[in-house]
Amino acid sequence: MKPDWDAVEAETVSRLQAIIRFDTTNPPGNELPLAKYLESTLLAEGIETTLLEPTTSRAQLIGHIRGSGARRPVILLAHMDVVGAERESWTHDPFGGEISDGYLYGRGAIDDKGMLAANLMTMLLLKRMLMKSGTAPSRDVVFVATADEEAGGEWGMGWLVDNRPDLLDAEFALNEGGRTRIIAGGQAYLAVQSAEKVSHVVTVTARGTAGHAAIPLADNAIFRLGRALDQLSAYAEPVMLTEITRQFFTRLAEIWPDPDEKKAMLDVVGDDRKRAQEGARALSSIAVFNAVLRNGISPTVVEGGNQFNVIPDSAVAILNVRTLPGQSIDKVVQRMRAVVTEPGVMMEVTHRGEEAPASDPQSELFDAIAAAARELDPRIAVVPYLSTGVTDSARLRKLGVQAYGILPFPMAQSDEERMHGNDERVPLKSLHFGTRLIFGAISRIAL
Ligand SMILES: [Zn+2]
Repeated sequence: MKPDWDAVEAETVSRLQAIIRFDTTNPPGNELPLAKYLESTLLAEGIETTLLEPTTSRAQLIGHIRGSGARRPVILLAHMDVVGAERESWTHDPFGGEISDGYLYGRGAIDDKGMLAANLMTMLLLKRMLMKSGTAPSRDVVFVATADEEAGGEWGMGWLVDNRPDLLDAEFALNEGGRTRIIAGGQAYLAVQSAEKVSHVVTVTARGTAGHAAIPLADNAIFRLGRALDQLSAYAEPVMLTEITRQFFTRLAEIWPDPDEKKAMLDVVGDDRKRAQEGARALSSIAVFNAVLRNGISPTVVEGGNQFNVIPDSAVAILNVRTLPGQSIDKVVQRMRAVVTEPGVMMEVTHRGEEAPASDPQSELFDAIAAAARELDPRIAVVPYLSTGVTDSARLRKLGVQAYGILPFPMAQSDEERMHGNDERVPLKSLHFGTRLIFGAISRIAL
């Protein structure tokens, strides 16, 4: 029994428009009205729901299709909140859900309301099929819509983990965090996020003698900080390949259009040490590949002094350091200290990210995602992916859930870069691809 996809497409578009029209800009989030819309949509089709309100106007909405219990549940996760939009820089109303030239525009269209709509449609389609056949799935299918992801998840997934871990007891979860990228020649690859880097904050403090600016001092704290940062800017952490990055480059090389980059991908995972080094050097010149090859160091804030004629006694730089899974932040800081020879400079870890285990890139859900994708596009390459960004999946992995991140909508880089930017939009064709992909993957593991 197959869904009537023409009707499904029209319904998906109108539901995504409805979802975008709820302004869930975070802060303040105000996800409750959207959660109530999702609740009434699910209830209208006989799907059991739980609405949770962690604090005023914030909400999580859970929907359950009960299975036979033969296998453990699968979670379909998406967040309801969005980042802010500068209306004057948009050509369409960011909360209008307008359609133009084959695109649906709106804040959240690809992060993460598009997936929220595709997840919702998957629940509705599954329920309708099961009603007709009079059968139950082999496992619970759990729809989870969270608040507050864009501001750290304290009122969202963090709250759920602390207060209702029973609702997250699952074998698998499907979440945001990967990508379906269209590259040269119309070829696409689906990167399925199976692990993520861990985000830490390192504070660098330079100290010197305070005084009147009329008398220049050799130990000026700001110059010291500048020299220390200059030394760090010339430093890169060593290349480290994880099992996931090995598979990522191996499978990506099969479809990669640029011959030099393709060779570098094959070399970096090969046995020849010299060629592996050359491959790593070549890939490191591409920022997004460089970021998955090594621990990354990015200065983000500098502070020091407050008066033009006063030399301050200290100056501070804040660095966001992202480590590969299994790498110790303390060891990274040790190496950074060895690089900085400037006197009077201190470095300390002021916020420590939490390590989460990787999800298995050979699991039943991973294979189901790959099979569903190939059914829609036989040429697509499906690759496991280590993301440099942080998602709610880390919290689920810590609970023992095998969580995977996708962005199920095939897009060129230029469209994907609108995420958190102006004129965020999803190509309608890609929206429908995404709904079929999620429905196909979940049907394969739950029916
Ligand atoms: Zn997101």
